Amino acid sequence: MDYDAMFKGALEALKKEGNYRIFAELEREAGAFPKAISHAAATPEEVTVWCSNDYLGMGQHPAVIDAMCETARACGTGAGGTRNISGNTHQHALLEAELADLHGKERALLFTSGYVSNWAALSTLGSRLPNAVILSDEKNHASMIEGIRHSRAGKVIWRHNDPEDLDAKLSDLPKEATPIVAFESVYSMDGDICPMEEIVEVAEKHGAMTYLDEVHAVGMYGPRGGGVSEERGLADRITLIEGTLGKAFGVVGGYITGSEALCDFIRSFASGFIFTTALPPAVAAAAQVSVAHLKRSEMERMRQRAQVKKLRARLDAMGIPHLPNDSHIIPVMIQDPVKCRMLADILMQDFGIYVQPINYPTVPKGTERLRFTPGPLHSDDDIDHLVRALETLWRQCALARAVA
Ligand SMILES: *Cc1c(COP(=O)(O)O)cnc(C)c1O
Repeated sequence: MDYDAMFKGALEALKKEGNYRIFAELEREAGAFPKAISHAAATPEEVTVWCSNDYLGMGQHPAVIDAMCETARACGTGAGGTRNISGNTHQHALLEAELADLHGKERALLFTSGYVSNWAALSTLGSRLPNAVILSDEKNHASMIEGIRHSRAGKVIWRHNDPEDLDAKLSDLPKEATPIVAFESVYSMDGDICPMEEIVEVAEKHGAMTYLDEVHAVGMYGPRGGGVSEERGLADRITLIEGTLGKAFGVVGGYITGSEALCDFIRSFASGFIFTTALPPAVAAAAQVSVAHLKRSEMERMRQRAQVKKLRARLDAMGIPHLPNDSHIIPVMIQDPVKCRMLADILMQDFGIYVQPINYPTVPKGTERLRFTPGPLHSDDDIDHLVRALETLWRQCALARAVA
């Protein structure tokens, strides 16, 4: 069997569709973010990153860097084992306490990534709770979908952000079912925010557990960065809140928070928690400083919102079509995978602007887009440069404009 020919065949098909993924090789520069050094031959040496999920630039915050370096010097690099066998450190305990407090929950549980936390928690809930049925918003992230699939629990998909459809689907369940409603606060590709109160009310009416992914909202929304559930005063009505330490908190790792019993249950039964080496203590220490900082400091969130608003206004003024939403994510719609890739290439090569084309399967075919995430560290000049570049491209490539 010529396995390489099989691999290449599959890749050729992706390339023909325009969906083959090409990574940009960058070197981040602490202190200069969102500027980065590009290692691709055809691009300027320094580029501006416009698609980072390090939304607030916490990945280069001096206190976060200090915590990571000092802890590595004091404690060494790796954790040395799983949490169960010699890998459970003081830094893990401190970070879990910080996270439980962030969401006003009794307890938190760390994982090696947000992906793993969703996969492990949902697969454990779905497989261990008797008669579990997971009701999943149709736009849920791949990590939730994989966790649900792996659990082999019953699965019901409800229409995106539609509490009425959720209500109808909960009403259809047999009465012995144990329903778990899984959804996100900020959906990262369209940037839309869920009608959380309505969803929570429907779930409460049916006695269903709620599982909320706040990955794109933690650090960003709410007076202490506790997410949309904090902003809307709903955290105490949600059973489980899941988040990441890798996006706005600028480090890496994932977590769930909830009751003492819930977290102890996942800790005790989740294979994706038990059988993997714990996060390095230095990573946990850095994340803890970042979370603590964003609990106190509004400056990053305020400046970020101002920059988001500015970019949106400039795009509107030029008639560049972008999806309206209430979040910090600005999707500029291209609706063609080949064009989307081409525009991203030109932006990078001719203008030193790095924005990754978002194509299938991340978004449905025909909804390809450039997804911009302005942050507090993008200057007004950066915005100006981006807007001028887009204006040039829209003119040269005769791209569609939004009707004013
Ligand atoms: C990125 C993402 C995750 C995974 O988090 P990581 O920490 O990057 O593994 C989970 N859910 C959503 C909605 C995401 O966008």
